[in-house]
Amino acid sequence: MSASVSSTALSSNLRHDWSLAEVKALFEQPFNDLLFQAQTVHRGHFNANRVQVSTLLSIKTGACPEDCKYCPQSGHYNTGLEKEKLLEVQKVLEEAARAKAIGSTRFCMGAAWKHPSAKDMPYVLEMVKGVKAMDLETCMTLGKLDQEQTAALAGAGLDYYNHNLDTSPEFYTSIITTRTYGERLQTLGYVRDAGMKICSGGILGMGESLDDRAGLLIQLANLPEHPESVPINMLVKVKGTPLENADDVDPFDFIRMLAVARILMPQSHVRLSAGREAMNEQMQALAFLAGANSIFYGDKLLTTANPQADKDMQLFARLGIKPEAREEYADEVHQAAIEQALIEQRGSQQFYNAASA
Ligand code: SF4
Repeated sequence: MSASVSSTALSSNLRHDWSLAEVKALFEQPFNDLLFQAQTVHRGHFNANRVQVSTLLSIKTGACPEDCKYCPQSGHYNTGLEKEKLLEVQKVLEEAARAKAIGSTRFCMGAAWKHPSAKDMPYVLEMVKGVKAMDLETCMTLGKLDQEQTAALAGAGLDYYNHNLDTSPEFYTSIITTRTYGERLQTLGYVRDAGMKICSGGILGMGESLDDRAGLLIQLANLPEHPESVPINMLVKVKGTPLENADDVDPFDFIRMLAVARILMPQSHVRLSAGREAMNEQMQALAFLAGANSIFYGDKLLTTANPQADKDMQLFARLGIKPEAREEYADEVHQAAIEQALIEQRGSQQFYNAASA
């Protein structure tokens, strides 16, 4: 580990002025040095044996007018996905209650829209209010927002808004042509101005270079405030999308991405997100060692498979990891509730590719 890199990264001061050369130097360290550095930063800011657990529900599926090349929900590609209109509020609340029962502390609702329409907003706001009333953290991903919409969502109690940057500004136009990078940054700015927390990350495996991976993390880390949540997705190659035959990402390169995200954004939750189904337990354990401390669980991540919740709990138990609890739960009570709920829950088909909107 080079002296300049280590002294910078081990500082608890948050930085917003990372350069490409610095970030590439982090990536290019020997693997063990990088992991040691990331784990050290992680322990300076988090309990290393706690992982935050979120559940993601698709509240409106498919027929999206955007052309994101990785996404089975885009209306531009024929992936055989069954489309669904906006779910009823009551149905969403039932799923939120189920997510809470199996230990999720945050309920994320995703809609495949370019942006929410005036007609849909009242329903969306009801969903936020209802989920909030269950004492869950609320998160939504609905596409581009204007200032009126961010104010309304914040007023309804929305805690987090997810809007991924996906990749570097340079590579972005190879992946999406229907929405600009600038529009994405503008939505993130509106979300911040309205007082909400930001969930924003990207995807590996779309044919991007190391510079692009570093470029994405620089965009995120050099925002005026770091996103509180940083989902790092491994491309799920879905037949019918333009990226169905993309090359695999070297698993160690994926772990490096998590580690560098951890070092650049020491106080953020780094989420091991879409693509976890294709990772074995050893890789997931390495991901936690690299500083990932958030996962989605439930049977599906938007429209692609996700490890079943009980398998996740078994892995947590083997690694001595506990789900990060909300303040008000005693750990044992929370743990017991999760275990009981896991015995009871099977087969919800509603959980659904976090690489969304
Ligand atoms: S990633 Fe989001 S915005 Fe892009 S096509 Fe899929 S649902 Fe639409």
